[in-house]
Amino acid sequence: MTAPVIGVLALQGDVREHLTALTGAGAQARPVRRPEELDAVDGLVIPGGESTTISKLVDIFELRDPIDKRIAAGMPVYGSCAGMIMLATEVLDGRPDQRGFDGIAMTVRRNAFGRQVDSFEAPVEVDGIGGGPLHAIFIRAPWVERVGDGVEVLGTVTDGPAAGRIVAVRQGNLLATSFHPELTGDLRLHGYFVDLVRTTS
Ligand code: GLN
Repeated sequence: MTAPVIGVLALQGDVREHLTALTGAGAQARPVRRPEELDAVDGLVIPGGESTTISKLVDIFELRDPIDKRIAAGMPVYGSCAGMIMLATEVLDGRPDQRGFDGIAMTVRRNAFGRQVDSFEAPVEVDGIGGGPLHAIFIRAPWVERVGDGVEVLGTVTDGPAAGRIVAVRQGNLLATSFHPELTGDLRLHGYFVDLVRTTS
């Protein structure tokens, strides 16, 4: 079985960690900064970082149209944290000029968990991923306030002040998490995405 080619949008954020995790999960992983590089991948990861900055750089690097078109054509995309924000159709507490890819029919709230719990860790059970809960790391993370038709909720926080908050979703070939599996060394979420790309391409 050949390894699918998966790009990591390499404009800002924790690109290297995703490249390492994707390689470990059996993909050929490459940074994507230019439209020609996007053409050469079967799937794309949008990393955590700062969604307002990524939004600006997507325009500067002339990647908005090409990514919109690939998403419309069914390319699998996984967005983590800022990447989740970039995939949402609606962003609360965003900057008025930030724009995403309108991929997943959901409303996300930026920096939702609040100042006191800017960063925290919690076990999150994700539907479709066996072997027990993922150790989820949240860093100034968004949560999902509402999902529209066709969006599957894959994971919620189970304990503490944020209990019940949706933090992992999927709509068709688009996957998003509020948290950062690339920082844990646990490759299961990346493996799930690699399988999705493999069965799509
Ligand atoms: N707060 C950031 C944003 O708005 C996301 C943080 C992250 O990706 N770790 O984009």
